[in-house]
Amino acid sequence: MGNIISLVGRPNVGKSSLFNRLTQTRHAIVDPTSGVTRDRIYGKSDWNGKYFSVIDTGGYVVGSDDIFEDEIRKQVRLAIDESDIIVFMVDGREGITPMDTDVAKILRRSGKKLILTVNKIDSPSNFFDYSEFYSLGLGEPIPISAVNGSGTGELLDLAVSYFTKDSEEIEEENHIPSFTIVGRPNVGKSSIINAFLGTDRNIVTPIAGTTRDSSKTRYKSFGFEFDLVDTAGLRKKKNVEENLEFYSVMRSVRAIENSDVCILLLDATQGIEAQDVNIFSLIQRNHKGVVIAVNKWDLIEKETNSHIEYEKIIKGRIAPFTDVPIIFTSVIKKQRIHKVLETATQVYQNKKRKISTSQLNDYLLNIITENPPPVYRDKMIRIKYVTQLPLYYPAFVFFCNLPQYVTDSYSRFLENKIRQNWDFNGIPIDIFFRKK
Ligand code: GDP
Ligand code: GDP
Repeated sequence: MGNIISLVGRPNVGKSSLFNRLTQTRHAIVDPTSGVTRDRIYGKSDWNGKYFSVIDTGGYVVGSDDIFEDEIRKQVRLAIDESDIIVFMVDGREGITPMDTDVAKILRRSGKKLILTVNKIDSPSNFFDYSEFYSLGLGEPIPISAVNGSGTGELLDLAVSYFTKDSEEIEEENHIPSFTIVGRPNVGKSSIINAFLGTDRNIVTPIAGTTRDSSKTRYKSFGFEFDLVDTAGLRKKKNVEENLEFYSVMRSVRAIENSDVCILLLDATQGIEAQDVNIFSLIQRNHKGVVIAVNKWDLIEKETNSHIEYEKIIKGRIAPFTDVPIIFTSVIKKQRIHKVLETATQVYQNKKRKISTSQLNDYLLNIITENPPPVYRDKMIRIKYVTQLPLYYPAFVFFCNLPQYVTDSYSRFLENKIRQNWDFNGIPIDIFFRKK
């Protein structure tokens, strides 16, 4: 069991308000190409030092209540499949509706950890009869106000008490890397997995202690040893709905969280689309390694430099995090399949890279002296030293006098300098500035 929380409930009960509160996103980013709000569906957060993901299942429902009842039911089922804790939201001002009773019935049978919250209880005077919600049979309702935040602390305390996994744990020494293949339907995910495993197929062992997480299998293939994280979408028969953004994101979240390096497969004939960029951003926000494989490369008419052009377009879409390996594959022609595994293994090594404080300072302080941070309103920003944080992914903290005035572009400048000197290809890096 991991720490994935889904918010379910009818439209307008306040799911997105709660989502914003839990993940502290002030503005959802609207993706102009797909017309959906990109950041509304998925966020990462922490409470008392425990990390978790939040999924707003309502992120893709628009329109009137009745038309989408079927859709809501489907989303509830998906939330049950793909998350660990379900927060079922009802509206304290409207009382119980038939749809609520329906959803409650599905949830009761799910065997998942459930939290019933009654929203829009903005002040004690609203504490009118929310006890009617006991009749949903989901235990004690927690009254909250998503808009002013009251009750959300209690909600999080309860959610955190259900967590079993410290999702940000530092890996043990001999950890075998976990890879997962993500991408839209039909890009060739099943095919590339078969290609990995077809030759020299060798399932080593079912991994001890992973009964709850049976989607990982250990392989030795092409000389590499790794765990492959299955995505639910691969196991199930595909259907039309799965083309929807919502479904492909839902199905990818857990796989991404359970892996070290994600292999994001694109279809060369379709190029990089909004959905691909969304999945890329999920990977990045989870601090996971990434390898982009542009599959079906056999179907592309090649002219000189076509892969260089192609790479440019992809990097334009994934900017500013562009230090990412891009491999052009053909599963059908068995081209560069080995390269994908080799690169994913290398990316995993990069993720674990630790740079000593003295090496960092020797290299970076000179660069900083030559290219100091821009002066802010006559104030000089002095960076004194830099060190890598002891986290499970690369993060660097620069100690300085006025951290609040360091610009994003200067932060990116430092990140690029780090990337020029050490191999962090495929790995998101965090840069922090702290007062000293
Ligand atoms: P969703 O469709 O379930 O995601 O619901 P929204 O978060 O979009 O909220 C629907 C409406 O309810 C919006 O107008 C919100 O401002 C309002 N709302 C959400 N939470 C609260 C709350 O705690 N108190 C009150 N009074 N209104 C709320
Ligand atoms: P998934 O939905 O991502 O698992 O995709 P599949 O592995 O089921 O592949 C979808 C279709 O693309 C199948 O018909 C495959 O044969 C085809 N396909 C996969 N890889 C390649 C490739 O490299 N080149 C070509 N031409 N077709 C491919």
